[in-house]
Amino acid sequence: MSEAETDTKIITGSNDESFKDTISIVNKEGGRKWIYPKKPVGRFYKARTILSVFLLAFMFGAPWIKIDGHPFMLFNIIERRFILFGTVFTPQDFYLFGLVMIFAFVTLFLVTAVYGRLFCGWLCPQTIFLEMVFRKIEYFIEGDYIRQKTLNASPWDLKKIFKKFSKYGIFFIISFLIANTFLAYIIGIDELLKIISEPVSAHLSGFISITVFTIFFYWIFAWFREQACILVCPYGRLQSVLLDKNSIVIAYDKIRGEPRGKVKDKQKDNLGDCIDCKLCVNVCPTGIDIRNGTQLECVNCTACIDACDSIMDKVGRPRGLIRFDSMESIEKRTGFKWTSRLTGYTSVLSVLLIVIIFLFSIRSEIDINILRTPGMLFQNQQDNKVSNMYNIKISNKTYDEKKIDLKIKESYGEIKLIGNDIILKPLEIREGSMLILLPKEIIKLTNTPVSIEVFSDGEKVDELKTNFLGPQNLNKQK
Ligand code: SF4
Ligand code: SF4
Repeated sequence: MSEAETDTKIITGSNDESFKDTISIVNKEGGRKWIYPKKPVGRFYKARTILSVFLLAFMFGAPWIKIDGHPFMLFNIIERRFILFGTVFTPQDFYLFGLVMIFAFVTLFLVTAVYGRLFCGWLCPQTIFLEMVFRKIEYFIEGDYIRQKTLNASPWDLKKIFKKFSKYGIFFIISFLIANTFLAYIIGIDELLKIISEPVSAHLSGFISITVFTIFFYWIFAWFREQACILVCPYGRLQSVLLDKNSIVIAYDKIRGEPRGKVKDKQKDNLGDCIDCKLCVNVCPTGIDIRNGTQLECVNCTACIDACDSIMDKVGRPRGLIRFDSMESIEKRTGFKWTSRLTGYTSVLSVLLIVIIFLFSIRSEIDINILRTPGMLFQNQQDNKVSNMYNIKISNKTYDEKKIDLKIKESYGEIKLIGNDIILKPLEIREGSMLILLPKEIIKLTNTPVSIEVFSDGEKVDELKTNFLGPQNLNKQK
């Protein structure tokens, strides 16, 4: 057997690869196969429930949190204003935002390479809402999976109408709450409260946004469901390149489990621990059989671990026939191995982290850009001086009013603002113009370097360098 074939066998965990010809959510006719997962029970499900309570509380609560009267989190794409844990980021900070995003992706790659798709099952909002909110309501109203199937197959009577109406009514209300929360992250809670409390005509676009988001979330959680993870999510598609046989995944121990067989046959045949009860398949929210090996559809929800552990307890075998482990470890009983790929990811991550910390530490609360006005040459002024015109753009990234002063570092130079003094309101971005005047006698080059000191409320916050345009032969002309 070639190395590639051996690897395939290790990853699939079985010689029967016919499961690769079908998708769990598509039936033989090519239509949607509705997944009815059995309600999970067990220690991992309990842990996920507790974690999801905290995450949901944070998600719904964060837009209401204010620090000194200002939002704790805001992602205002429309006004290009972002607040992360109380710190304001403006478009001038976009490079930082880009670096943080790259850092987040590399972290996700590293975590995936080591621990598999943990994010999907434990932290992803799609899984948390679907499994921990919408499905729990479904189980409460319609019962476990067999009852749900029976109800769907039964004729429409009062009981069915009541159950379906209650379920989808609650789904719609929760979708409405999610839509409002989502919008609160974009426009802020104060604006959202205005949309809710004032007449629709005064906030037509806000009202339309809430309606569209509500319908979208309702469609996702009431109908589209696990298809988002299997067919749409790009992270799911990346699994095949992120995982290798050393990654820790939800894995079925085929060496211990195979050959599978019913409990009653265990005495007469030399069978493995799997009793082929299919409980691990029944609880799977993406409808796969983990005994076929790691598959792209697996969102690492751990429901099959809980299910199999409960069976192992019943048949008196040790837990962990399905467990967190790497395929390599299962095959060779080697335990976790640090690979060169992990060294690479960790190195990139460390460098990025150092760069981000450095850039955050030098990040100024006042951002200023000074550029010589395009197309303008120098002008001769009184008192034997020459001037250049510059465009300035200043942004105040704080919640305080700031008085900005600009000075030429070289004592012979002078700045004249066109317009009033620069007093910036909180978070204001202002554009304007100014003149720099230099005495003719010091201009010896076409481009004379000039340093501009920036003072905010009297305190020096930045120093910029620019060029001053002057006639090269000015002194000769004199
Ligand atoms: S739950 Fe465990 S014992 Fe039952 S089929 Fe799945 S792997 Fe086998
Ligand atoms: S195989 Fe197991 S961990 Fe993966 S999605 Fe299905 S139940 Fe969850």
